[in-house]
Amino acid sequence: MSLSLIAKSIKPSPTLALNEKFAILKEKGDPVIHLGGGEPKTRVPMEAIMATVSHVNTGEVRYAPADGIPALKQAIIRYTEEFYNRKVTPQHIIASGGAKQALMVALMAILNPQEEVIFPAPYWVSYPDMARLIGAIPVPALPEDGTFYPRIKDIEDRVGSYTKAVIINSPNNPTGAMYSEEFIADVVEFCEKKDIWLLMDDIYHRLIFDGRKIINPFKYAKKQDENSKMIIINGVSKQYAMTGFRIGWAVGNKKVIEAMSNIQGHQTSGPSVLLQKAAVGALNGIQSNVESLRVTLENNRNVMVDLLHSFEGVKVTKPDGTFYCFADFSVYNKSSNQLSAFLIDKVQVLTVPGVEFGLEGYLRLSYCGTIKDIQEGIERMKWALDPNSPNELYIGDRKLVRDWS
Ligand code: PMP
Repeated sequence: MSLSLIAKSIKPSPTLALNEKFAILKEKGDPVIHLGGGEPKTRVPMEAIMATVSHVNTGEVRYAPADGIPALKQAIIRYTEEFYNRKVTPQHIIASGGAKQALMVALMAILNPQEEVIFPAPYWVSYPDMARLIGAIPVPALPEDGTFYPRIKDIEDRVGSYTKAVIINSPNNPTGAMYSEEFIADVVEFCEKKDIWLLMDDIYHRLIFDGRKIINPFKYAKKQDENSKMIIINGVSKQYAMTGFRIGWAVGNKKVIEAMSNIQGHQTSGPSVLLQKAAVGALNGIQSNVESLRVTLENNRNVMVDLLHSFEGVKVTKPDGTFYCFADFSVYNKSSNQLSAFLIDKVQVLTVPGVEFGLEGYLRLSYCGTIKDIQEGIERMKWALDPNSPNELYIGDRKLVRDWS
């Protein structure tokens, strides 16, 4: 079939495919455990629900402006002041269909075909395909020292005449690594010096552990005016457990935001007014939900890391934030795709293969579910992988027999 070159270069999102797989297995009544998910299970803030319901009750649900409703922009202005100590105006803000769309329209606004965008590896699965969607070239930067913490040299070494932008996601999906303040300062300074765009994907910035403090990249920016090429990306999906509401945003200079709004205006128009109202409710409402989610995730992280330490040969780096742990399982199988498929097949535990994030031999395990799922999921994985395991395992009243070595 004569599909476009771009269509042919794009893979399906592996994490979305896993969610579909989970739904199918669940529907069949299989006792599947999802350790591959990317959404907290806490309840959506009441203010978000109330705001949506009261708007829908007016019976008038119309088009919203392409760049976001004024009330949401006001809430984002306050958020930006609180977390970035920066005063912005509505013209510096665009609300989009999730942080995903905010990132996508930002890349469309700044990159030409064949230009390059650098991001540290392991990286969020969508960055390479987002770049390819506009004919640009993704350039992953795996830290040379073998850690999950890049140094500025890792970025510098990949900058060439085609480099147009850098994306930084900290704390990071999939590793949970929160990059040091020194690295953030270096990358802000470096991008300003080279005059390249810097996209800060801050979607997890409040979900950090062990008393860490949120890092404000603007603190290190010398260009505070309309010449600033830093774009902050954020949203309600993770911190307010509102993944299904699809509201994210970007804050940047007026010109780039105007360009992004023009693109979005033709692409999808503004996000649904109902969902924007919900985001206003969450952003302006009681913030204790975010802290209680953060505390729950920190506890879940501790449980998961302790359980993983009991695996012989599995290497774990303790996550500093997010709800993901990226563990090295290469001792069991060098192919993460094979290993992930084996775990689904044998013990019905869903994990995401590390190769999708740019690092083979690893699995991404999520701890955004219940403690019970974490415990049972890891226990099943251990049973399947450890050659010293007993021969049988019961899942409810189903008996599994270990007939592999
Ligand atoms: N950036 C990162 C690093 C993510 O992990 C995700 C969601 N998995 C997004 C952006 C997109 O989030 P949203 O739901 O707001 O589109």
